[in-house]
Parts: sequence; C-alpha cells; structure tokens
Amino acid sequence: MAIDPVCKMEVEEDKAAATSEYQGKTYYFCAPGCKKAFDQDPEKHVAEEGGQ
Ligand SMILES: [Zn+2]
Repeated sequence: MAIDPVCKMEVEEDKAAATSEYQGKTYYFCAPGCKKAFDQDPEKHVAEEGGQ
C-alpha cells in the first residue's frame, strides 16, 4: 500500500489511477487530478510526506 502524497489517501500500487516518478521514487495517486497537482509542484508534496 502506498500513500497518495497529494491527498494522503492509501492507494494500492496495482490499482493506482496514476503514477509519477520523482527523484527516482515512484508515487501513486488515487486520481489523475492528484498526479497533476503533484507534477505541478512535486517538492511541496514530497516535503510534506513523512515530515514529523
Ligand atoms: Zn489523491
């Protein structure tokens, strides 16, 4: 199970609506809109992931 970095939803890798690679890591999204938001500003969403 992966976490959609945009909306923090749990996403099953093989059921992800969209995926994106950033800095060598694959991210999974619940919807194409989440991938779009991530692609527009990946650093913002990656920074939020696992912060504190
Ligand atoms: Zn999402």
